[in-house]
Amino acid sequence: MNSRTLAEGDTVIFIDAKDRRYMQRLKKGGIFHFSGGYVEHDAIIGRDEGALVRSSLGIKLAVFRPTLSEFILEMPRGAQIIYPKDIGIILMWADIFPGARVLESGIGSGALTMSILRVVGEQGVVFSYEIREDFIARALRNIETFMGKPANLIVKKKDIYEGIEERELDRIILDLPEPWRLVTEAAQALRPGGIILCYSPTIIQSQRTCIELKKNEKFTMISSFEVLMRNWHITEQSVRPEHRMVAHTGFITTARRLSL
Ligand code: SAH
Repeated sequence: MNSRTLAEGDTVIFIDAKDRRYMQRLKKGGIFHFSGGYVEHDAIIGRDEGALVRSSLGIKLAVFRPTLSEFILEMPRGAQIIYPKDIGIILMWADIFPGARVLESGIGSGALTMSILRVVGEQGVVFSYEIREDFIARALRNIETFMGKPANLIVKKKDIYEGIEERELDRIILDLPEPWRLVTEAAQALRPGGIILCYSPTIIQSQRTCIELKKNEKFTMISSFEVLMRNWHITEQSVRPEHRMVAHTGFITTARRLSL
């Protein structure tokens, strides 16, 4: 999976000159069809990652294994994912580290889950609570496609509002409609020094979460923010922000568990 040569079974993305992306799993005898003709997988297998190929109609395509953020944006979705721009910040602000014991909920399409798994590594463990069986199945398929079957992911088909079973957790990340309902539970499940991070699409949700966190003497350092990422168009003639951007995704609230 990490070698420089593309092999059968690898997931790859074909990228055209207009930055359109097409994700494929390489298979001997397989054919990638698109509006610009087709490319035989056999023409890719055995070549270096980053190869340039031409389709049957002469369209130039670059072939790479997807980065985690590219995979997340291309993979099949059930629930709305957390966007890579937010995940990057979440991993830093929740201070996810190799070997950490992390709980997250819900699993959704698995975007955040695979990002946490990659950081905690084999010594860490990720617990994920999700109420919907179909979302669990899809998320596991996505995770396995990207990183193989992780031995350290424990998925629980449960309503997390009924309670968190784990104790001595290092980190809790909640991407749920009503995270404030879990503040008391989270205080019990986190070890002293642990961090809770809640991601919510509306500021009213963040406000309720902050109010609950402030009421709970076990939490301190409560802080909320959002992440704006603006791409720039840069050529010799023009240097300016792109006209379009993702202007809103969600708000992030973090807090730290005191030793009380
Ligand atoms: N973070 C995920 C997206 C999660 S979307 C990703 O990056 O892909 C929110 C998820 O929470 C949905 O899958 C939903 O089914 C789940 N959910 C909602 N309420 C829940 C509850 N009470 N217990 C467990 N999961 C819940």
